[in-house]
Amino acid sequence: MDCIFCQIASGKIPSDIIYQDEELIAFRDIKPQAPVHLIIIPRKHIPSLDQLSQADSSLIGRMIAIANQLAKGEGIADKGYRLAINSGEEGGQLVPHLHLHLLGGRRLSGTLG
Ligand code: AMP
Ligand code: ZN
Repeated sequence: MDCIFCQIASGKIPSDIIYQDEELIAFRDIKPQAPVHLIIIPRKHIPSLDQLSQADSSLIGRMIAIANQLAKGEGIADKGYRLAINSGEEGGQLVPHLHLHLLGGRRLSGTLG
């Protein structure tokens, strides 16, 4: 499996992991777009939001719950933050393994696209 996020999940590629459990991993984005920029992924290789099955849809709820917890840990929960999932080419998805961006630590752009 040459998926970069699967390789991060298995420890084959080093990353700045700040949270992990049996289902999810969170690490710092290698090219942060804000003072806090974390990536939350399921360990399971799901290529995109578009390919999320009904059976796996509860993962999204857990990803958001962990993101909220991490936002508190990073000290940005009170001022505000943004969660984003890019899906597919026109959605701006570059890494084909489902992931949630957590961005914060500055006033973010008012546009989303
Ligand atoms: P997306 O455009 O939604 O697919 O976002 C992919 C994100 O993954 C980008 O913000 C990249 O900077 C980030 N990224 C790519 N490779 C790595 C890596 N090895 N470690 C951490 N973040 C990465
Ligand atoms: Zn993968």
